[in-house]
Amino acid sequence: MKDFLSEVTLAKTAKTPMITISTPQGKQIEIVLASELCQPVDMGAHVQAYCHLHGSDHQRSLSIKKMTGWGHCFNTACQATVLVAEWNRPVAQRLLHVYYQGLTSAALPSYQAPHLPSRPRPYVVQPLLLPLPKTIPAWQKQELHILCALDGQMRWALAHSQRAQLYLRERGIPLNSALEAGVRYMPSALLDRPEMRKEREVLRRWVDRLLFPLNSPFGRGYIGRSLWPWQPGMDETIHKALLERPGSPKRWIKTNPAGWFGVECEQLPDTIFLVEGAFDRLTLVAAGLPAPEIVALAGTAMQVEWLPVQVKTVVLALDGDDGGKEASSRLADQLAQAGLCVQVCQFGEDTLGKDWNELWQHLGQQSLAPVFEALSETLSA
Ligand SMILES: [Zn+2]
Repeated sequence: MKDFLSEVTLAKTAKTPMITISTPQGKQIEIVLASELCQPVDMGAHVQAYCHLHGSDHQRSLSIKKMTGWGHCFNTACQATVLVAEWNRPVAQRLLHVYYQGLTSAALPSYQAPHLPSRPRPYVVQPLLLPLPKTIPAWQKQELHILCALDGQMRWALAHSQRAQLYLRERGIPLNSALEAGVRYMPSALLDRPEMRKEREVLRRWVDRLLFPLNSPFGRGYIGRSLWPWQPGMDETIHKALLERPGSPKRWIKTNPAGWFGVECEQLPDTIFLVEGAFDRLTLVAAGLPAPEIVALAGTAMQVEWLPVQVKTVVLALDGDDGGKEASSRLADQLAQAGLCVQVCQFGEDTLGKDWNELWQHLGQQSLAPVFEALSETLSA
């Protein structure tokens, strides 16, 4: 495929001004170029423009978030969802990629009246799940903003908290590799400081949690794992059961946006290993796998369009339980459909654990043999 921006430009000049992509939910997305925006005005985080899709010239009803490239027309008759290609290359590129595949491989429905002169063929797109940015409530914006501002202090807290370090140690994760991966800790002492009165209100639910940084095309975020009421020596299944009792804090909470625990989407290398949990990623990194290659979904669905085009191979190393196996075969189909090379890492029939971290705690390095096998296969391929 040629440079995708020239593809967009080409498609747009070929008598059809629109590139419309449909999601399985029936949502339509218009891929637009920045040059198409009508008299755009910079509003800070947003750009506002007259909507060239429905042709308004009275109100700048089209509002686009500069950071994500996603926009919406507020005209009630239009309501278009747009993506400015240049402002979100990974997502636009991925959508375009799938769109061109659809053009060549899918049978085209003939819903044009036969007497009409031949118009450009309708765009047919393979099914894909596209996350549409929703408006983020003010409290969640504030929450994320404060967490980001406290990142350095939460790093310090992890580097100095015996409790958090003991927890990591019992899960087999060395402190240094956790710190390097961006893991943080929110002790109650941090929020109890007098100058933290305002932050305390907003961040109460993050107290006594390990925080993992998340990445998505919509920005950064965090997922937090509660350590309440963990004590040294407490078995993980018991801790989990305690957290599941009514009235307990949630085991995991996330910011909005959330995302994957891994390097920034655009920085992903050509081969990636997909694991389910944040601790699985830390486990593989602790065992010596290259950190940039390991992506933990961390409760956020796989979205093929988040993967930049340089990603060619995905190794699925999901949990060994029924849920993990089911997800693995579903994802293998979805990724293969998007043109990616898929490898499934066979999780042994071990009874000692259902995920990599559990196995690692019981068996050490040998538990990860399947992952290292998959790694050497991708290297020799
Ligand atoms: Zn419009």
